[in-house]
Amino acid sequence: MRRLVLATANPHKVEEMAAILAAAGLPMTVYAAQALGPAPAIVEDQDSFLKHATLKARGIARWLAGRGELGATLVLADDSGVCVDALDGRPGVDSAVFAGPQADDAANNAHLLAELAARGLERSPAHYVCLLALTRVDGAPLPSLPGAEPSEVDLGIFVGRWDGEIRRARAGTGGFGYDPHFWIPGLGGPDGARSVAELAPEEKHARSHRGQAVRRLLAALPVLLT
Ligand code: IMP
Repeated sequence: MRRLVLATANPHKVEEMAAILAAAGLPMTVYAAQALGPAPAIVEDQDSFLKHATLKARGIARWLAGRGELGATLVLADDSGVCVDALDGRPGVDSAVFAGPQADDAANNAHLLAELAARGLERSPAHYVCLLALTRVDGAPLPSLPGAEPSEVDLGIFVGRWDGEIRRARAGTGGFGYDPHFWIPGLGGPDGARSVAELAPEEKHARSHRGQAVRRLLAALPVLLT
């Protein structure tokens, strides 16, 4: 069985990606890097989702190579975030640390709502972005992957985007991060919208930025697994 290692320390992302990957039934076993040992923390100090995802994928691949992992093992990194129109696209790549380096979801949401309030706004159009970077532990070039973005030869890059609205109003207890304040129109609810935290996991995966990106990856994976 081919091994695929998720290069993220965020347990919510691991859970979501593992669930979407498992549903596809491909011949591969999925691990979280943290479950294999003390994975290094990758410093995310760049200005794009692409650069951060690339750093994480290559960094974990190097770490695994140093531990004797098979060169053909795949490493998958997710860099994601929310881009809010009224904030000129912020927090974007800084979504995990919007309220500061040690911020948790509650602090980041409070900071986001304060930024909206400071502009006298109840809501703003926004979108989630997910950028996946796939690489091999040995860094060997990957074959051309259908649905992948143009990239350096050792990488497979897959992108997903989910449009909605950030509202100061909060609802739901599911999901993570900004989900209680991220509303999707046309899903029912009192005014036709529901927050992502109100969706069942399968409903979120069917629509989400991460679901879209992982499904693009899944469509390309058979090329690598044969
Ligand atoms: P990263 O680990 O640097 O990619 O930061 C990702 C951050 O973006 C998370 O900590 C959340 O704040 C936010 N984020 C990404 N995806 C989601 C999602 O599906 N729901 C809610 N927040 C998300």
